[in-house]
Amino acid sequence: MKKNIFDDPQIWNWVDSNDDNQVRYEFTEKLTPADVSSILDIGCGHGRFLKLISAKRNDLRCVGADYSEGALEYVPFEKVQASITSIPYPDHQFDCVYAMEVLEHLNPVEFETALQEMVRLTKKYIIVSVPYKENLESNMTRCPVCHTIYHYDGHIQNFDEQKIKGLFDKYGFVCKTWDRLGWTENYKYHDLYVKMFYPEQKYKTKHYTVCPVCNTEIKPQQQSGPNTNTIGTPQAGGLIRNIKNGIKNLWPRESKSYWIIGLYEKI
Ligand SMILES: [Zn+2]
Repeated sequence: MKKNIFDDPQIWNWVDSNDDNQVRYEFTEKLTPADVSSILDIGCGHGRFLKLISAKRNDLRCVGADYSEGALEYVPFEKVQASITSIPYPDHQFDCVYAMEVLEHLNPVEFETALQEMVRLTKKYIIVSVPYKENLESNMTRCPVCHTIYHYDGHIQNFDEQKIKGLFDKYGFVCKTWDRLGWTENYKYHDLYVKMFYPEQKYKTKHYTVCPVCNTEIKPQQQSGPNTNTIGTPQAGGLIRNIKNGIKNLWPRESKSYWIIGLYEKI
């Protein structure tokens, strides 16, 4: 049977221990219109967002949907085990339907079906958040058993402002507002940077993941990452090391938002 990494509490402990995710949940709660009295969080995981919003709004009907049965065990609300492409609820059941950090995982066919399913389920609003302009290549890992190279979070789609703004245009929804949040700093020409200074880090995962082909579980290595100063060339002479360190310190960086989030309303 295929393993689901989201069944494993390790992945949710990682998500929950991340302060940036807390900021994102709080932002999403504030973005939710005041006239909402029922919500469906698709891909709810351990239900952290549902817990946050239910604590702030009285009498809100909270429903969580997730593909992972293991994750749903932690959700203290009405819930259903289902994929975003087929949620077993009647049409227009919820004032607001959310998909946070879900759409980037879907192939083009699943993606379009997922949008249609959200449109079918909502009465009025949809909220979507996804990673913003992610460098998918730099987050690839390689399975040590079957050598498949895959994204350690399973991301296969990328999003920018234009894609987010027009996401539900053809379904009769308007993007009422959108914003970017979170902050990340990356090295430009990331692949070259890693190749030059941290060749052993190529294809390393940042956290627990499971190979989608052979089910091998891969744990993050306890090695220094590209953001530390421990350059890994102990055999190199002092001059070469100094030159390398000089180039490394001058390497151009770029900052960008981590997520992009949109609120849509039925016209
Ligand atoms: Zn494998």
